[in-house]
Amino acid sequence: MEQIPCVYCGDFFDPSPRHKNQTACKRAECQKAKKAAWQRHKMKTDPIYAANQKSSQHQWVKANPGFWKQYRKDNPQKAERNRILQAIRNRRARSSLEPARMDPVLIAKMDASKSDNFQMLGQFWLLPVIAKMDALKVNIVKIPICYP
Ligand SMILES: [Zn+2]
Repeated sequence: MEQIPCVYCGDFFDPSPRHKNQTACKRAECQKAKKAAWQRHKMKTDPIYAANQKSSQHQWVKANPGFWKQYRKDNPQKAERNRILQAIRNRRARSSLEPARMDPVLIAKMDASKSDNFQMLGQFWLLPVIAKMDALKVNIVKIPICYP
């Protein structure tokens, strides 16, 4: 059978003849990523599953008091990262409730024709310290310097 690329790591692997539509290789990280993606999808699309998850998470937190407080103390970098990601989610949720504004994607497209030479370095969120201001998604690109 022909090898196919893993959706998560990009490596080619031999798909199992017993499983159709296989997307992930056997690697533990890829299986973990696949499961996480399935759970994210299930949480969004299955209200009963989402309710069960929430309820069992509540029970677990009750049975393990102080766990998250200790976790944040032991992993200050992860705690900071989670705080930032939550701030982004909060602002996104808030801005989706607000009346329509100029779409940043449209603004970005205005220069699309000129950006052929740009080398994309990554996508980032600019988070203003002032809570009232919206987070801004930005593309950071390397611009070649042209000397005359
Ligand atoms: Zn993989």
